Amino acid sequence: ADLVEIKGVTHAYRTPAGALPVLRDLNIAIPEGKFCAVVGPSGCGKSTLTRLIAGLMKPDQGEVWLHGERVKTPRKTVGMAFQNPVMLEWRTILENVMLPLEIVAPSMPKAQREERARKLLALVGLSGFEAKRPSQLSGGMRQRASLCRAIVHKPEVLIMDEPFGALDAFTREDLWQLMHKLRAEEPFTALLITHDLRESVYLADEIIVLSDRPAHVQYRMQVDYPIN
Ligand code: ADP
Ligand code: ADP
Repeated sequence: ADLVEIKGVTHAYRTPAGALPVLRDLNIAIPEGKFCAVVGPSGCGKSTLTRLIAGLMKPDQGEVWLHGERVKTPRKTVGMAFQNPVMLEWRTILENVMLPLEIVAPSMPKAQREERARKLLALVGLSGFEAKRPSQLSGGMRQRASLCRAIVHKPEVLIMDEPFGALDAFTREDLWQLMHKLRAEEPFTALLITHDLRESVYLADEIIVLSDRPAHVQYRMQVDYPIN
C-alpha cells in the first residue's frame, strides 16, 4: 500500500511581487518501506513538499494523504531531519533524542524512553556521548544524533531535507553507510531531499526528479540494482 500520497498538488506562494507558482499538479506515491530520493534544482519546491507531507502547510489545490488519512494538521508521526539539526543546548544528547517520545508517547515510562534512545545512539556509534551537550559534538556526530531523534518514535515516514549537505565529503560518506545500517535495523519509509545525485543513487530505491521548467515535468526512476 502507498504510505504517502500526493494527489494533484498545486501550490503558489503569495509574495509582495505576486503569486509564485511552486508545485503544479504534482502526483507522487511512496509505498510503505520505500526509500525515495527527490532531486531537482534549487527553488523547484522540494522543501515545500516536505512541509506539505508534515502537515505544516496546506496546498492551494490537491490532497496529501499519509497512511490512508488526509493530512490537514501538523503530524507528530512524521520524523524530520535537516541540514542543520536544531538541538536543545540545555538538554543532553540523550535527552534531545528522547524528546519526540515525550511528545508522541507521554505515558511511556522514562526508563523505557531512555532505553530506546540509548539503543539508537549505540547503533550510530554515539555510545559514551549520551551526557554531552549538542555543542560538544562535531557536525557529523550531531547529524547522527539528529537522525536518532528523527526515528526514535518510529515515525510513519522519515523526511530528510539535505541532511548531509553541510558535512565534508568523508563524513558524508560515513553517514551514507550509516543510513544503510540504520535502515537494516529500523525499517522505515523515507523521503530524502538532496542535490547530490550520487547520494540519491547510493541511498534510494527510487529517485523522483522535480523540474522547475514550465511544464513541471516529473520524472521517476527505479534504482534497480543493489549498491554496496
Ligand atoms: P527547494 O527546496 O526546491 O529549493 P522551496 O520549496 O524551498 O524549494 O522553495 C520553492 C520556491 O518558493 C523558492 O523560489 C522559494 O524562494 C519560494 N518560497 C519558499 N517558501 C516560501 C514562503 N514561505 N514564502 C514565499 N516564497 C517561498
Ligand atoms: P523538562 O525537564 O520539563 O522537559 P525542558 O527540558 O524543556 O524541561 O527544560 C529544562 C530546563 O531548561 C528548565 O529549567 C527550563 O526552564 C529551561 N528552558 C526551557 N526552555 C528554555 C529556553 N528556550 N532557553 C533556555 N532554557 C530553557
